[in-house]
Amino acid sequence: MKQNFFMFAKSTYFGYTKHMLTQQNFSKPLVAWYKQHKRDLPWRNTKDPYAIFVSEIMLQQTRVEAVKKYYAPFIQKFPTTKALSNASQEELLRAWQGLGYYRRAKNLQRACMQIETEYNGQFPTTQKELSLLYGVGLYTSCAVASICFNERVPAVDGNVLRVFARVTALPDNVLLEKTKQNVYQQLLPLVPKEAGSFNQAFMDLGSSICLPANPLCQHCPLASVCKGKHNPTAFPVREKKQNKPAFHKTVAILYYKDAICIEKRKDDGLLAGMYAFPNLDGWLTEAEATAWVEKNFGDVQALTQQYHKKHIFTHQIWNMRVYVFTLSSIKTTSFVPDISAYPIPTAFLKCLP
Ligand code: SF4
Repeated sequence: MKQNFFMFAKSTYFGYTKHMLTQQNFSKPLVAWYKQHKRDLPWRNTKDPYAIFVSEIMLQQTRVEAVKKYYAPFIQKFPTTKALSNASQEELLRAWQGLGYYRRAKNLQRACMQIETEYNGQFPTTQKELSLLYGVGLYTSCAVASICFNERVPAVDGNVLRVFARVTALPDNVLLEKTKQNVYQQLLPLVPKEAGSFNQAFMDLGSSICLPANPLCQHCPLASVCKGKHNPTAFPVREKKQNKPAFHKTVAILYYKDAICIEKRKDDGLLAGMYAFPNLDGWLTEAEATAWVEKNFGDVQALTQQYHKKHIFTHQIWNMRVYVFTLSSIKTTSFVPDISAYPIPTAFLKCLP
């Protein structure tokens, strides 16, 4: 039988049979759909690679709606790689406060410093060069290279994996690195000239049509080639996630007159370099907490409240026992009248009464 691009061909693919995807039956309708339905997002109104780079870093593990609030003020405060390179760590973390995953902000700044020193302030223009920037992985380098410079590389993130796994009824565990690599290799020849639109189309299709729980297959531009549409939620295949380790913490909210105690965290480890209310590992009893406060921070006038808060990080959970004290005297200078000028992670802010 004569083969052409409009005919479903059979081929071996990851050890199973699929409809062959081509630019004609897959990439073209996807990009056409994108042009008609793309979301109006602040970082889509610029061609500045730095601004797009910032958006891609912010979007890692963070929802579009959350990023929208932070993106414009951040770009206004740090409009260039040079401006961000020269920012103090506190200015940087303050602007990032609330977005979480603060390591991203520090890596972003280090990448900008690298651009200033190694690239003479000129933003790298290829995926290969971009991937050499500090903290930049395959996904981000491909996203920026395709969106800014139309380099024909796929940006494989969760949305892409979900859509592609459904379209091809992929039986492999998408949490495995080798599956992601295979998907990347299979998508590579499908990336059209309009590479930026192709990759952004996946992002929009994944967030509006090929939804995790209730995909709207009747509106999907890929429905004619999708093998998984009759049972879409069976894909992507994911191995059962391991439980995250949970840790107990004690947090002290200490008031002295109109001031509150905050301490700078160590320069390494989780939430490095940020500020936090005094805290330590484990749950202290009331008597133990009072003794700890009196030894390190000042004389206790009253223990006014005690409650529990929980915070879920990517890899761990904190179950925090919070004590609120008022002090009659202090033995440290770590008390400030206004905490809004300090970068304090959400995990601690939620401990305030
Ligand atoms: S047809 Fe349905 S399952 Fe397939 S890609 Fe489109 S929305 Fe997803």
